[in-house]
This record gives sequence, C-alpha cells and structure tokens, in this order.
Amino acid sequence: MSVPTATPAARSESRSLVQDPGPREYLNLIGGSWTRSRSGKSFENRNPARPRDLLGTFPDSGPEDVDAAAQAAARAFAAWRLVPAPRRAEALYRAAELLRERKEDLARLMTREMGKVIAETRGDVQEAIDMAYYIAAEGRRLFGVTVPSELPNKIAMSMRQPLGVCGLITPWNFPMAIPSWKIFPALVSGNTVVIKPASDTPASAHHLVEILVEAGVPEGVVNIVHGGGSSVGIPLVVHPQVKMISFTGSSDVGKTIAERSAKTLKRVSLELGGKNAQIVMEDADLDLAVEGALWGAFGTTGQRCTATSRLIVMKSVHDDLVRRLVERASKLVLGDGLDPRIDVGPLVNRAQRDRVHSYVEIGKKEGAKLILGGSAAEEGALGEGSFYRPTIFDGVTPAMRIAVEEIFGPVLSVITVSSLDEAIEVLNGTPYGLSSSIYTRDVNRAMRAVRDIEAGISYVNGPTIGAEVQLPFGGVKETGNGHREGGPTVIDAFTEWKSVYVDYSGRLQKAQIDR
Ligand code: NAD
Repeated sequence: MSVPTATPAARSESRSLVQDPGPREYLNLIGGSWTRSRSGKSFENRNPARPRDLLGTFPDSGPEDVDAAAQAAARAFAAWRLVPAPRRAEALYRAAELLRERKEDLARLMTREMGKVIAETRGDVQEAIDMAYYIAAEGRRLFGVTVPSELPNKIAMSMRQPLGVCGLITPWNFPMAIPSWKIFPALVSGNTVVIKPASDTPASAHHLVEILVEAGVPEGVVNIVHGGGSSVGIPLVVHPQVKMISFTGSSDVGKTIAERSAKTLKRVSLELGGKNAQIVMEDADLDLAVEGALWGAFGTTGQRCTATSRLIVMKSVHDDLVRRLVERASKLVLGDGLDPRIDVGPLVNRAQRDRVHSYVEIGKKEGAKLILGGSAAEEGALGEGSFYRPTIFDGVTPAMRIAVEEIFGPVLSVITVSSLDEAIEVLNGTPYGLSSSIYTRDVNRAMRAVRDIEAGISYVNGPTIGAEVQLPFGGVKETGNGHREGGPTVIDAFTEWKSVYVDYSGRLQKAQIDR
C-alpha cells in the first residue's frame, strides 16, 4: 500500500468546509466513504455562547455503524501495517502542514463549537500540530532494544508491532488536541483507527479526520463514527475486531470501559479525571502564584482535566494571596470567546452549568465561605449561553466534597495549611492524581514536593496546566490505569513487543541449560 498525495479537488472541498459559516450536514467516515448513520438519525451541534448558532448536524450512529467501521478498519490494517513506518509518518507531516494553514479557521470553529476563548482554541490546534511533527519523527525511530545474547553466535533483539484496530473515545474539552494525541501515534505505529468523538464537539474531530484523508491516509485507515456513549462508545469497546481502546474522559466512564474490556482482556489506556492543586508556600513570589492560580482555575472556564481546583495556601500568606486573587478574578470578562477581549467563555452546555452550580450549593451547605461568584451569569447576551461566574470558596476543609470531587468548572477552593507536610497530605487526599504545582523559592522544598506528591505531573513555579507533547502525560490513582499519552511512552500504548532471537551458530543451543 502506498501513501497517495492529496488531490487538488479534495483540498478545495475541505477548505470550503472549514470556512463555511452556515450549518451543514456532517457524516461518518467509514472505509473511505462519507455516510449517514444506518438509522438515518442525526443530532445537532450548537454554540454554547449563542445556542441559536447551529454549526451542523451529525449522524446519531449505532452499533451497526460501529461494526461497519471496525470491519473497514480491520480490512485496511492488512495493508497499512506493511507500509514502512517512515512512509506512514509522511502523511502526518502533510497533515501538520494542512493544520498550520487552517489553524485560524479551525480555532474559530472550535470556539463556536465548545466556547473556550480564541487564544485557547488556537493553542488546541497548535497542540495537534506539535503532536503531528513530534510523533511523525517516531516513524524513523520506534526504537526496540538490542541486547547481547548469553549464547555465542546469536542475536537478541526486540521490535514493536502494531495492535490492529484501535478504538478511540475522546472528551469535548480539547476537541482537536486529544484526538490528535491518539490518532497520530496509533497511525505511525501501524494501527488503523475508529474514533468516536464527544457529541458536544464532533466538528473539530471531523475536520482533523478530513485533513488526514487529504494528507493521503488510505481508505479505511481512519474512520469516524459520531454518536453517544452507550450507542457508539460501548459497541466500540466490545467489538471483537477492536484490539485496543484509548479513552479520555471521566473516571466513572473509564471504570465502565475497563470492566467491559476485562471480559476479553482487551488493552485499555485510560486518561481520566483530576482534582488538581496548587500549593503556595510562604516564600513564594505571590504575584506569580496569583497569575498561576487565575490561569489554572479559570482558563478553559475550569474545564481542563489539569485545571487548578484547589489552592493550598500557607496560613501566613493566606490573606494577602486571597485578596489579590479575588481582586484579579473579579475583573475577568465573560463572553463569546471569538471576541479577543474575553477572558472566560461559557461552559460547554447547560447541563454542565447546572452541575457546577449544584456543587456551589453543596459547598455552601458544607460551610465553605463563598467569596466570589457562585451563580450563573445571565445579564444581557450572556443569558442566552451557559455562562458561570468565576467562583472562589475560602475556608474549605480537605474532606468537603468540593475539595475532593471533580467539578469541571470555574470553581476554586482555598484550603489553609501550616506546613509543607500538611500541604502535601492535603494535596494527596483525593482519589485522583493528575497534575500538581508548588510555588516556592526554596529548591529543597520544591524537590521534596516533587518526590512526595502523588500525581503524574508536577510543576514548580508554574500552574497545574501547560503540558507539552514531548513528555509523558497522565496520572496516578483514579486518574488512569498506568498508561501515558504524549512523549515516547505513548508508543507503548499502541504497540506490542516482539522479542526476536536469531541463532547463526548452526547448532542447537539451549539458553540457561548450556552452562
Ligand atoms: P465523559 O466521560 O462523559 O465522556 C468522554 C467520552 O466518552 C465521550 O466521547 C462520551 O460520549 C463517551 N462515553 C460516555 N459514556 C460512555 C460509555 N458508557 N461507554 C463508552 N463511552 C462513553 O467525559 P467528558 O464530560 O466528555 O469530559 C470530561 C472528563 O474528561 C473530565 O472528567 C476530565 O477530567 C476528563 N479528561 C481527562 C483528561 C486526561 O488526559 N486525564 C483530559 C481531558 C479530559
């Protein structure tokens, strides 16, 4: 199988799709054909800042669509696995170039699709570009290990092999970055994929897939099936042709997927929820710590798996820090993220806004002190969308539900402590372990924190958000099941090891016994 180059017709069609401001009918891609759902049903995708803005309709698919996609991907695997990895990677380099050309259009579409501000959606597309360049280079690596054999005239080496069809299930908060973190390494490793994006953000995933087609990825190698978790997600998880599931989303759904996959011992890579904290020591640069907390807690309207939802502050700097933080947070401007003056966009939908508010009510009942926000923003045009005011609780204690459970919204809980040991104990006191941060000028304290914090990611003098593609990404405890995306480690999730012994002695040699 060769990797064809893009045709001019395909290019112009794809461009106009990204730029078209009117609603359109999006389709599944199965075995190289764009198709409706077998049932003919569809669902809408609307702008959470202005729900009258309809981006388009998408196939509301079911198990029969998943089956067709999995079968197509299995057929394509037979040839794709034999394409040399450096050639597979060439398609990713071309995709990176196309993403670069269309970055602005894709970012604007993403802001309309899920609400985060335009600077952040540009960053989301940039992450896909970074990942394409980074992981395409793996096409000329995919390192195995070669070691000396214990026997003469014998070579011992190991190599990576693809798994087959990979099922990819993604959330809505990074609509292009997360699909790219899964699709690109899967493809360069020689797998074929079926992706089911979140139904709140199907358009960004669609355009990513369309770009891959345009970049020359052959028919059936990438398939996309739109629809819900139970109608498309579960059928993908249990499909016998699907050899691996890579899932990013909530811990509850991750556990369901793990249970369903356990029946066939299917490989599952899970990237799940977080309850991340920033520690501020008494010797910290407080201005920097305030900037970090603002960005960590209210960037992406708090809807990042790595968002700062707890601020663990030393008693001696508490009052100063909280005063500055409230002053800054109260000036954040809410609105439609397409306007570059806006700091905070809407939540992804009304249900998420109601969920966030229910946690605020829980916090109040638990006795935490609401010092900022605490309600939906409904004045003027904001009333149309799913806006929620940046919210800060002070006087939070570690066992309160708002300090333990993932809220996934612009709500920050301030917890006061008296020592580094106590800060780390509080930080570690949730079921999650994704990201963490400490602000201090003392390198000894910083390194103790890095050693003792139970999290997959630790920042020193930076917020809990800001991961780069070339390092492993993921968490401990209920944030995952030990796999890591990003970095060289992602290749482990998408390949099997094969150990190969070549005996050129011309005689029977018996390891361990010939001694
Ligand atoms: P979610 O778990 O509700 O949904 C994620 C995806 O799973 C969606 O595509 C959804 O349709 C699908 N799904 C839902 N139920 C399913 C089921 N029973 N079987 C199979 N698939 C199913 O999560 P969300 O609301 O889209 O995203 C927010 C969550 O994702 C948060 O918990 C956040 O922390 C987490 N997240 C984690 C990371 C990470 O890398 N650790 C990154 C981003 C988001």
